[in-house]
Amino acid sequence: MRVIDRDVAEASKKQYDLIIIGGGIYGACLFLTASQAGKRVLLLEKNDFGAATSFNNLRTIHGGLRYLQSLDLKRIFESVSERRWFFRNFPDLVKPLPCLMPLYGNGIYKSAVFRWALLLNDLLSSNRNFGVVKGRQLLKGKIVGQDEVKQIYPRVDIHNLQGGAVWYDGAMPDSQKILIEIIKWGCRLHGSALNYTEVEELLVTGGQVVGVRAVDQTRNKEYTFKATKVVNCSGPWCRRVAAQFDKDYPELFKDSFAWNVLFNRPALSPYALAVRPKKPGSRMYFIHHWKGLLFAGTMHSPWNKPDRMPTPDEDSVREFIGNLNDTVENLNLQPSDVLQIFPGLLPAKEEGSGKIAVREVVIDHGENNGPVGLFSVSGVKFTTARLVAEKTLKKIFKTELARFSRDGREPLSEKELGVFQEDWSPSEKSGWEDGIKNIIHNESVVHLDDLMIRRTTLGDNPLNALKYSHEICALFDWDEDMVASEIARLKSFYNSRRTSDLS
Ligand SMILES: Cc1cc2nc3c(=O)[nH]c(=O)nc-3n(C[C@H](O)[C@H](O)[C@H](O)COP(=O)(O)OP(=O)(O)OC[C@H]3O[C@@H](n4cnc5c(N)ncnc54)[C@H](O)[C@@H]3O)c2cc1C
Repeated sequence: MRVIDRDVAEASKKQYDLIIIGGGIYGACLFLTASQAGKRVLLLEKNDFGAATSFNNLRTIHGGLRYLQSLDLKRIFESVSERRWFFRNFPDLVKPLPCLMPLYGNGIYKSAVFRWALLLNDLLSSNRNFGVVKGRQLLKGKIVGQDEVKQIYPRVDIHNLQGGAVWYDGAMPDSQKILIEIIKWGCRLHGSALNYTEVEELLVTGGQVVGVRAVDQTRNKEYTFKATKVVNCSGPWCRRVAAQFDKDYPELFKDSFAWNVLFNRPALSPYALAVRPKKPGSRMYFIHHWKGLLFAGTMHSPWNKPDRMPTPDEDSVREFIGNLNDTVENLNLQPSDVLQIFPGLLPAKEEGSGKIAVREVVIDHGENNGPVGLFSVSGVKFTTARLVAEKTLKKIFKTELARFSRDGREPLSEKELGVFQEDWSPSEKSGWEDGIKNIIHNESVVHLDDLMIRRTTLGDNPLNALKYSHEICALFDWDEDMVASEIARLKSFYNSRRTSDLS
């Protein structure tokens, strides 16, 4: 028996309690939480699981420090508790992320202010390590002096430097694996999950939802799936899906565009750096280190076009690179250093704004004269998707929800997870084929990019991935034409995320 068993025909014969549209992190977490609560759940994803916005996050699990500025205590407590959930259940995929912000004494960015902020942050997150294994626990924040800042971040601009604020968050370098592990967990609790299955119609009888009609994209074949509750978790598509199945809810998703860039250049520090360009009024950048490489962002802007998976134009990327070069001494980044761009749409606070919304939106369409049993959800952070799932589930099943355990995943080895070293090559012959074959069998791999990008880390480095793609294709039962088309598909994925084509 496969862990994620892509048996579309079998799923269409069953009666489910809940059907979820969209296999991003919001759909995946709802799938797991509903399965934990004992519900029979079906997850339907039109593309591959986690291939849209959820793939493009900055790989940070946020605690609450940034929400201190707005004194949003609720958001702080929620973020701390969700960060802890990831640390408790995914110690194999999440690790502490030390962060540094150099302080120059401008406005609130003074050592005295930050000393209090860090103290408050530690107090408010005093239970952050409860149930977390050693080696994954988060230390207290602190103010460090100029010399220590220079040690941590040698290229720091020392002019007027007062010191630095150090705090700890969570890093999830392989966030795509967390999402797949969440879906596998739900499947082990008897949920069914189908990728490449696009929901096209909501089926309603006498005002009550009875299921959906969807198309299996691998065979272009239609199926109906049965449930009296359907949740639209389709991220940037959720407003369209809501309009198609009921009516438009503008509050669900007002578009804003966000993106990060991974450069083929060594990271600037083992710490994630929060730095501000010298230009007055500039937004703070977060310069991350991702597997030793420089990963920087996040750029935010309004978005008013229909495209749901946009990429930034070349001029915007050049401008961002220019700003980074102005911010970091002797950085001299070039457009040719771009390895991949990680873009996505996020819900904005207001229409036409680049400022992202603060809270999730959950709509019960039945309460608003729409189909009874239809719900729509949109959320803001990867970090809090599980909590939003729990809130949604309570709203859907009201008093019907019994107590259930939220924890219980066993960590896996790197081989089981498909986590390979950056300089991996197939010539090592250390039994790598068996691990990958196991993943192909158990994790609903349909295309080469599913395997290389979202089930393993083989695709982290595009150049390496394309170099060894023939060896990987040999593990599938594919003829020559299929191999050529799968490699072309992988290449086009990478090219869509760069400013220049890979040859
Ligand atoms: C640049 C960037 C950086 C970010 N960094 C962070 C970070 O560091 N930490 C953090 O916590 N958060 C971060 N976020 C936020 C986080 O990534 C998002 O909140 C989250 O991924 C949204 O997930 P989702 O499931 O709502 O959407 P998506 O991941 O887009 O999933 C929606 C899914 O629905 C599917 N779908 C659509 N229509 C249908 C249909 N008809 N039938 C079936 N399936 C359908 C789509 O194919 C898609 O897979 C970042 C976001 C961006 C854009």
